[in-house]
Amino acid sequence: MGIIEKMRLDGKKIFVTGGARGIGKSVATAFAEAGADIAIVDLDIDEATKTAKELEENNGIKSIAIKADVTNPKDVSAMIDTVLENFGRLDVAFCNAGICLNIPAEEMTFEQWKKVIDINLTGVFLTAQAAGKVMLKQGGGSIINTASMSGHIVNVPQPQASYNASKAGVIQLTKSLAVEWATRNVRVNCISPGYIGTELTLNSPSLKPLIEQWNEMAPLKRMGRPEELQSICVYLAGDTSSFTTGSDFVIDGAFTAI
Ligand code: NDP
Repeated sequence: MGIIEKMRLDGKKIFVTGGARGIGKSVATAFAEAGADIAIVDLDIDEATKTAKELEENNGIKSIAIKADVTNPKDVSAMIDTVLENFGRLDVAFCNAGICLNIPAEEMTFEQWKKVIDINLTGVFLTAQAAGKVMLKQGGGSIINTASMSGHIVNVPQPQASYNASKAGVIQLTKSLAVEWATRNVRVNCISPGYIGTELTLNSPSLKPLIEQWNEMAPLKRMGRPEELQSICVYLAGDTSSFTTGSDFVIDGAFTAI
């Protein structure tokens, strides 16, 4: 079997949080194209249902939509139950849901701080923990978390201390889980994208006006596209990445290299 065949995900069972749109939808599409069955997990159940239908129609795989708030342990637990009822097992978790608030640190309220940390860091912990429990019992699995280049650098000019701190937390959480679960065949990695064109950036009133400035600073002079994160995630989800765990993949068009 050639390397491309070995990288396929036929029959694997995967959940993707924040999967209704943006990076989550794009990576879920790649997983489906590689043959996996996908649970789209999102707050927005209408959009999640549309995405799941699209994946089924285009790829002949099974896809379901599940409404869950990743910050709520009860929702996360019910989400895992639904995945297991429908798919019977869980091979891969893409813990990707996240938000960004751009507020100067001195003006940030406790609630605003907590919202970002709850979704971006605690949400990744809760979903990765729930997935890990199932995978440890099964004897293996792969967890992929979405961090950001903001976990490495302080993006400018926008003020986003809570976002940057949450994403640095995701990187260290990823490494911690990878070490704890290494001998039990549960791998944990994260991706750290640079600026990617999604609702989060293109339609954010605070971020949209900054795009020209970011592109000027970027070595490639442009933002990334969600599709440019697909192949790394397919690699991490599949069996050819069996020696890859505890790693953080920075995909930023060299933004953090300068
Ligand atoms: P989008 O805003 O396009 O998509 C995020 C999705 O997550 C939305 O469908 C949203 O649902 C969902 N979501 C938000 N909060 C929750 C929650 N509590 N529970 C379940 N689902 C939730 O963002 P992106 O695709 O751009 O971002 C995806 C991830 O990538 C995030 O973690 C982000 O921080 C990270 N990232 C993004 C970059 C970028 O430049 N775009 C760069 C680096 C990292 P709803 O619509 O209902 O809010």
